[in-house]
Amino acid sequence: SKFEDDFEKRFNIPHMRDIFPDAVSYPSTFCLRMRTPVSEEFAKGYPSDEEWHGYINKNDRVLLKVIRYSSPTSAGAECIDPDCTWVEQWIHRAGPREKIYFKPEDVKAAIITCGGLCPGLNDVIRQIVITLEIYGVKKIVGIPFGYRGFGKELAEIPLSRKVVQNVHLSGGSLLGVSRGGPNVSEIVDSMQERGINMLFVLGGNGTHAGANAIHNELRKRGSKVAVVGVPKTIDNDILLMDKTFGFDTAVEEAQRAINSAYIEAHSAYRGVGVVKLMGRSSGFIAMQAALASGQIDICLIPEVPFELHGPHGVLKHLNYLLETKGSAVICVAEGAGQNFLEKTNAKDASGNTIFGDIGVHIQQEIKKYFKELGDPADVKYIDPTYMIRACRANASDGILCTVLGQNAVHGAFAGYSGITVGICNTHYVYLPIPEVISYPRTVDPNSRMWHRCLTSTGQPDFI
Ligand code: ATP
Ligand code: MG
Repeated sequence: SKFEDDFEKRFNIPHMRDIFPDAVSYPSTFCLRMRTPVSEEFAKGYPSDEEWHGYINKNDRVLLKVIRYSSPTSAGAECIDPDCTWVEQWIHRAGPREKIYFKPEDVKAAIITCGGLCPGLNDVIRQIVITLEIYGVKKIVGIPFGYRGFGKELAEIPLSRKVVQNVHLSGGSLLGVSRGGPNVSEIVDSMQERGINMLFVLGGNGTHAGANAIHNELRKRGSKVAVVGVPKTIDNDILLMDKTFGFDTAVEEAQRAINSAYIEAHSAYRGVGVVKLMGRSSGFIAMQAALASGQIDICLIPEVPFELHGPHGVLKHLNYLLETKGSAVICVAEGAGQNFLEKTNAKDASGNTIFGDIGVHIQQEIKKYFKELGDPADVKYIDPTYMIRACRANASDGILCTVLGQNAVHGAFAGYSGITVGICNTHYVYLPIPEVISYPRTVDPNSRMWHRCLTSTGQPDFI
C-alpha cells in the first residue's frame, strides 16, 4: 500500500553508498570470535561453519507495531492507521554487518555528550570505546563539554579501554556536558581539522537535531564521515522506542523521594508531601513512579490539564484526603501546570524555554488554601531532580547502554550516518534521526497505562 511504501522511504537509513556510489567496503572480522565450536551431533541442521556467522543482514527488519486490534474501539487512541487494521511497519535491525565501510586503522572516532546529565552516559561511552577497540580502532577521543568542546581552546580527551574501564561505576559523564556552543559549520570545520571520521553523539532532541545538521553539512561537503546518535533522555520522550537509557534508573530513584515524602506527610499532622519529578513535555517518570511506588494520591503531568482551585480542583480533593486519610502525597512533572506560572520568556543557552517551578507554586498554593480555611496543612516539598540525574545506571539500564553503545559502533562501521540507535519491541534498531525527533513522545491520556495510574492513585479528573 501507499502507506507502507511511504513508511519504507521514511525509515530508510542513510548509507555512505547513497552519497559515494563507489564507496569501498572491507570484510569485517568482528564476528569471527562468535564461532563457537559445536559437536557434530549438535551442528546437524545448522549452517556449515563457513556459512554461519553472527552478522546482521542489511535486509533484516524489526516489526514496529506488534499488536493487532480487532476494532477501532479496542485500539482507542493508540490506533495508528485510519482503518485500524493490521499494518506492517518494518524498521532496520541494528548489529554488526559483514561488510564495513571504514578501515579501522584509518578511523579517528570522537564521542560527545550534550544537554543534561542522565544515568548511563558513562556506560554508553565505555561500550563505544571498547567496541571500537575490538574493531581495531586506535584513535579514539572524547570531546569535552558537549558541542562547546569543538571550540578551539578545549583539548580532546584520549580514550581507551584502560581509561574507561571503571567509568560506569559512577554517574555523570566523564567527558562533561553543556548547552549551546558553536554553530554547525564551525563544528564541522573543527571536525575536519581534527580529522574525525566517526562521531558518536549522546544527547536529547536538541543534540540529535545538531547531529542531523552536522550529518547534512558533511554530506554537502562530500566528507566521508559517519555521525551516529544515542538518544539520551531521562524523560523517555523519544518516539517509537520502548524506552531510553536512564529512564528505568530515574523511576527507581524517584521512588526513594516519594517514599521520603510519604513518610514526612504520614508522620505530620495534616501532612502533605509534594515531589517534583523530571518531565518537560512528557509525564512518563511521574506516571511510572506513581505506579511503582503506590504511595501517590495525586499525579500531575503535562499532558493532562488540571485546575488547582474550583469545585473540581486539586486543592478540594486534597482537603478531602486530609479529612479522610489525614495525609496525602502529590507528584508533579516539571512541565505540568505551566499555565499557572508567569511566562518569563527566559531561555537557556540551547534556546529551550526555562520553566517556572510548578512544585514551589503548588506548595505555596496548598499552604495558602488551608491557612485560609483555618486549618493549616504541613507541606513538605522535595525536588530530587539533580540527585536522580547524577545517579549511576541500574542493572537494566546498564545492559541497555551496553547494547546501544555497541550498536552505535556497528552502525558507523556499516557505513550508516544520520542515524540513531534504539530498542523497539525488545529488538535493537537503527532509525533515521528526523523520524525520532519530529516531536516528543507523550503520555496518551486515553491510554491504558494512564488509566491504570488513575485507578492506582484514586484521583478524579481535576477539571
Ligand atoms: P536534554 O534532554 O538534556 O535537554 P538536549 O540534547 O535536548 O538534551 P539541548 O541543550 O537542547 O539538550 O541541546 C544540546 C546541544 O544541541 C546544544 O549544544 C545546542 O546548541 C544543540 N542544538 C540544539 N538544538 C539544535 C538545532 N536545532 N540545531 C543544531 N544544534 C542544536
Ligand atoms: Mg531537550
